[in-house]
Amino acid sequence: MAESVELPGRLAILPFRNKVLLPGAFIRIRCTSHSSVKLVEQELWQREEKGLIGILPVRDAAEMTSMDSVLSQGVGSESGERSSKAQVTTSDVHKVDGKNHPQVIHWHNRGVAARALHLSRGVEKPSGRVTYIVVLEGLCRFNVEELSTRGPYCTAKISPLEMTKAEMEQVEQDPDFVTLSRQFKATAMELISVLEQKQKTGGRVKVLLETLPLHKLADIFVASFEMSFEEQLSMLDSVDPKLRLSKATELVDRHLQSIRVAEKITQKVEGQLSKSQKEFLLRQQMRAIKEELGDNDDDEDDLAALERKMQSAGMPSNIWKHAQRELRRLKKMQPQQPGYNSSRVYLELLADLPWQKASEEQELDLKAAKDRLDCDHYGLVKVKQRIIEYLAVRKLKPDARGPVLCFVGPPGVGKTSLASSIAAALGRKFVRISLGGVKDEADIRGHRRTYIGSMPGRLIDGLKVIFVATANRVQPIPPPLLDRMEVIELPGYTAEEKLRIAMQYLIPRVLDQHGLSYAFLQIPEDMVKLVIQRYTREAGVRNLERNLAALARAAAVRVADQEQAVSVSKDIHKLASPLLDNRLAEGAEMEMEVIPMGVNNHEISNAFRIASPLVVDEAMLEKILGPPRYDDREAADRVATPGVSVGLVWTTFGGEVQFVEATAMVGNGEMHLTGQLGDVIKESAQIALTWVRSRAAELKLAAAEETNLLQGRDIHIHFPAGAVPKDGPSAGVTLVTALVSLFSRKSVRADTAMTGEMTLRGLVLPVGGIKDKILAAHRYGIKRVILPERNLKDLVEVPAAVLSSLEILLAKRVEDVLEHAFDGGSPWRQHSKL
Ligand code: ADP
Repeated sequence: MAESVELPGRLAILPFRNKVLLPGAFIRIRCTSHSSVKLVEQELWQREEKGLIGILPVRDAAEMTSMDSVLSQGVGSESGERSSKAQVTTSDVHKVDGKNHPQVIHWHNRGVAARALHLSRGVEKPSGRVTYIVVLEGLCRFNVEELSTRGPYCTAKISPLEMTKAEMEQVEQDPDFVTLSRQFKATAMELISVLEQKQKTGGRVKVLLETLPLHKLADIFVASFEMSFEEQLSMLDSVDPKLRLSKATELVDRHLQSIRVAEKITQKVEGQLSKSQKEFLLRQQMRAIKEELGDNDDDEDDLAALERKMQSAGMPSNIWKHAQRELRRLKKMQPQQPGYNSSRVYLELLADLPWQKASEEQELDLKAAKDRLDCDHYGLVKVKQRIIEYLAVRKLKPDARGPVLCFVGPPGVGKTSLASSIAAALGRKFVRISLGGVKDEADIRGHRRTYIGSMPGRLIDGLKVIFVATANRVQPIPPPLLDRMEVIELPGYTAEEKLRIAMQYLIPRVLDQHGLSYAFLQIPEDMVKLVIQRYTREAGVRNLERNLAALARAAAVRVADQEQAVSVSKDIHKLASPLLDNRLAEGAEMEMEVIPMGVNNHEISNAFRIASPLVVDEAMLEKILGPPRYDDREAADRVATPGVSVGLVWTTFGGEVQFVEATAMVGNGEMHLTGQLGDVIKESAQIALTWVRSRAAELKLAAAEETNLLQGRDIHIHFPAGAVPKDGPSAGVTLVTALVSLFSRKSVRADTAMTGEMTLRGLVLPVGGIKDKILAAHRYGIKRVILPERNLKDLVEVPAAVLSSLEILLAKRVEDVLEHAFDGGSPWRQHSKL
């Protein structure tokens, strides 16, 4: 127990949701949220001297009764320690409903200063997220004068509430205080005796009663048993020592009574127990508790309630018969029997399924649906057209078991948001079922119920929508499933399309999400272009949106920095905050009731006025987003030395530019391949090398008398980005080009990228993913693309704006590829010119 503590005028505030830390109590918390981690870091971890922080109870409007019972008993424990210990565990209703509604949070205006007795820092793998475990000791009460929200966590101007030593000495003379002390001591003694009897512990706790000032002990006692949040608050508010003693006596007495009632019930039940009735113990105890409470009208059995729920679920008759059979079986089982629980959960699930309910599908208005799709998405004309056709068929034949729509395309191209617009257009609820990471089909379909611990499948869990599927690639979808789906492909976007999407959709949305408007932040078109060129190189717009959000966050901090003080009203301060939900959306785990700091986004802009908007410029981009991640010189730099060529490949993220590096060294004629390559690509390398060796003289790569290119040397071919597995035949022409460049010691053109499979005899065969590959080349700033001649037909899918900015060169044979890949034509031709 701390002696008198000198409090500073201002304290950093760690909010405890629906929970109170009383002076003298210990608490162990795990901080995982951004704000609490920052607070611990800055106020406790990085300080050399021992820092103090303020613990302030807060309450949100949603009643969170599960939070009320997290204190475990400390007094009377084996160790007989002097203070209570508590462990806070997570229990958050928002995780379940996750609604996006702002919540009203009440900040209490009294708190307790605390110091850290122990701190440990952890870094989670693989996310790298930092968390802290802190053991705090409550020291003394304080009053909040003003709460401010500057920086990542709150701070408060405070004034102390504890009496000085002299004042306390005076109170101790007060006869009322003496009487109250005596009463408290007697009740506390009684409690200790009862606990000692129950737990057979020694009398060490009694020593506390003799050594500590009683008004301090009152807090410690109360902190050590389960109490409602209201009771904890009332104890915290009992600033006056007399009031505190009387409150504590009342609470300790109540606790004593509850122990006695519990004992009485146990005795009653034990008296009725026959030796073979052990398994009914819990039921009997429950009855006895109800009797004791005089609460007889709620005598309904659980199973009867389940039966009623099943009756009102409106199951079809065959299901109803099956469910009744299962219920009869369940009624014969003992709750402890294996299978009881899974059978019960199964029936609960059957009763919960929306047998009679479908989200009301509104009369489908195709015009409105089209408007909705247009309003939510830029471009995508063909895709929207296909969706409208699909909806039109549904309208004409609503009961048609039409194919499932499946959007296929790289991440961030709008698959999910199109699906959600369709749901909105149909007036349906949008439920997202993620099948990523599903390894077992039972995960989707549900386990057989014979398996103990069986769970319903994800489809049943989300059973309310017509289905719209999304995927990055078509290839891994099993053919029978693909057969039942109408695949709609979404290509990546061009830089111009991204710019339009950013200006018209992403920026307004990001501003809104951060409680900003154009009056606070302006991102000029030129700057958005730079973000697209220098900071993202993706097919979709997801990273673009993230980068714009980073700019908005920085602006929000600046706005909030202008004016931080949020005054505390006399009793309780109310703030609306959707931040909890935001945090959950980031996947943050909440292990304690720490409320992230800050005020509602919208309040930021409403409450604070700033003189001029923040206009993003190049310097600011670098400051917030860091140095540019990409530049147009990359290809030029990489192909500067002979032996490197520029290929185009296709990945789940859309098309990508892939460099191929070849080098030679002294050796025995072996070829080494690196870069996590699959069998097909390894064979392509072998074919490419064989072709080059067989043409060595023709290509003037070697003098006529020494046609063996590998004489006395090894070749090493590497595909950079070595951590990413690569396979497929389309690198054939790129490999040949790298090898010819190596042997001819001529660099390839940096502005030219290529794709194509090759045969041993040098024919160039067509490959897939042309549209995505061309979009990737365009994003990369490539000016010329070499394609197999037979891929000409695929060019119709490429947006005209992209095609017009590129020179497309068609190749029938490998010689054609080489002709286009080098400045001034094939190296051997240049050679012969010399
Ligand atoms: P996906 O499901 O394809 O990975 P999302 O649907 O999650 O991608 O899209 C990522 C973000 O980009 C969303 O905020 C989405 O609204 C936005 N977006 C994508 N395409 C467009 C578009 N054409 N017009 C407007 N916003 C778009």
